[in-house]
Amino acid sequence: MLARGVSKGDVVATLSPPRAEFFILFLATARIGAIWLGLNPKSTQRELNHILGDAKPALVFSVEASGSRVFRDELAAMGIKPDQIVILDDALAFAEFNRAGEGVDPAQLREAVCAVGSDDPALIVYTSGTTGAPKGALLSQGGMVRSFHTQASVAGVQNVRILNNLPINHIGSVGDVSCYALICGGLVHFMDAFDPAGSLHAIDEKRLTVWGQVPVQLLQSLESNSAGKCDLSSLELIFWSGGVASRQLVERLRDITPRLLNAYGMTEATSNVAYTPFGASISQLSETVGLPAPDCEIKILGDDGKSLPVGQEGEVCVRTDRLMLGYLNRPDATRETIDADNWLRTGDAGTIGADGFLRLTGRKKEMFKSGGYNVYPREIEQVLEAAAGVSVAVVVAAPHPVFGESGVAYLIPAPGASLTEKSLRDWCKERLANYKIPKQFRVRDSLPMLAIGKIDKVALKKDAELAFHGL
Ligand code: ATP
Ligand code: MG
Repeated sequence: MLARGVSKGDVVATLSPPRAEFFILFLATARIGAIWLGLNPKSTQRELNHILGDAKPALVFSVEASGSRVFRDELAAMGIKPDQIVILDDALAFAEFNRAGEGVDPAQLREAVCAVGSDDPALIVYTSGTTGAPKGALLSQGGMVRSFHTQASVAGVQNVRILNNLPINHIGSVGDVSCYALICGGLVHFMDAFDPAGSLHAIDEKRLTVWGQVPVQLLQSLESNSAGKCDLSSLELIFWSGGVASRQLVERLRDITPRLLNAYGMTEATSNVAYTPFGASISQLSETVGLPAPDCEIKILGDDGKSLPVGQEGEVCVRTDRLMLGYLNRPDATRETIDADNWLRTGDAGTIGADGFLRLTGRKKEMFKSGGYNVYPREIEQVLEAAAGVSVAVVVAAPHPVFGESGVAYLIPAPGASLTEKSLRDWCKERLANYKIPKQFRVRDSLPMLAIGKIDKVALKKDAELAFHGL
């Protein structure tokens, strides 16, 4: 990179499936003070355009997986010049690229490495885009080290052997899995993509000890045709982040290992800010996100900007010395998100109980008003996911001619189960106030997903928008 003229503060992108090359490139880029950006080959052209136009990389590495698209033309179409693209298609190309570096004066390398400080940016990670266009969070060198040291100490696994099948544009892949394992001196087993059955085989064959995934993917693996055929007894820890695991899922995971962690985090805080403690009950694992991480403070903020007492619902705010440096090119959004006292507004709504456990009640942006009442989809989803035969439940709001807005529920049935609108409605009636009960229930085999494995609620909202049209 130095031979190619990359210098401190330049953005260097890597377009790659989760392969070892991506992590080597991340470490090399950060080491010389350049800013790493992970790109997912599965992103659409539109998404890549948005990110490349925003981040303007000086150099783009494309790690070509067998069967992957050829990116040279596409990158050129996005305004990246041919001499800014390095295609790494096999080990040989990597070796050639390294040889080019032999011309670099060792003093230049030393100087570049010594000029890097803990507060310098190490990478840009775009948020998942659940609530709007993804924003590029600039994360610091020291923040990465602190965040995954914390994770290592909370997880407490000695012999970390972990699976990485997560897209590299997400903090989970570069941070929760790869940096965590690096800090522990562990091993990372890379797989080009998430494959529900393949994950179980890899755990079995490689005797992996840690498995981290978003909850929907854990569920998909347990429901794949390899479940029951693979030996998962090497697992010492299963953790999830990014979404809620239902009671049923937690129970099934506990049969594999008693050491489970629900980790709550967001890109802007360099990943996780709360963890369930070991020994947490099934209810605590599925209905709470545990206690603040040792290096994080958490408070609940009311609409009037004051901290709320125990049990009252407001916006979850986090303070830690590993908050993002800011959103790239978005000073206004940065100011709205981090206040003068360094508190990050997460956009999540929640409460802190007398036991100190943080409960998420929903996302502030997902809250809707039905007949004048505030409704958080998360509460309804939790009720639906507890119903027999429901595997996944997602609720979004749609404009309603009478109530202003109303909920539309999307459900994936458990294998072999059949769901009827009547039984779902009756189940809700016993457990929810009338205005919270979805006015429509739509049963599907699958739901649109974001690359990280979260349900794409923006797409579902579009689908739901016409639900009550012409009523
Ligand atoms: P965007 O900010 O672009 O709308 P996003 O918030 O989904 O997207 P991320 O930073 O990847 O992007 O995700 C963080 C969010 O994921 C949190 O704010 C929270 O809503 C949700 N989340 C993270 N961990 C958990 C968890 N353990 N349980 C429930 N929700 C979680
Ligand atoms: Mg967010």
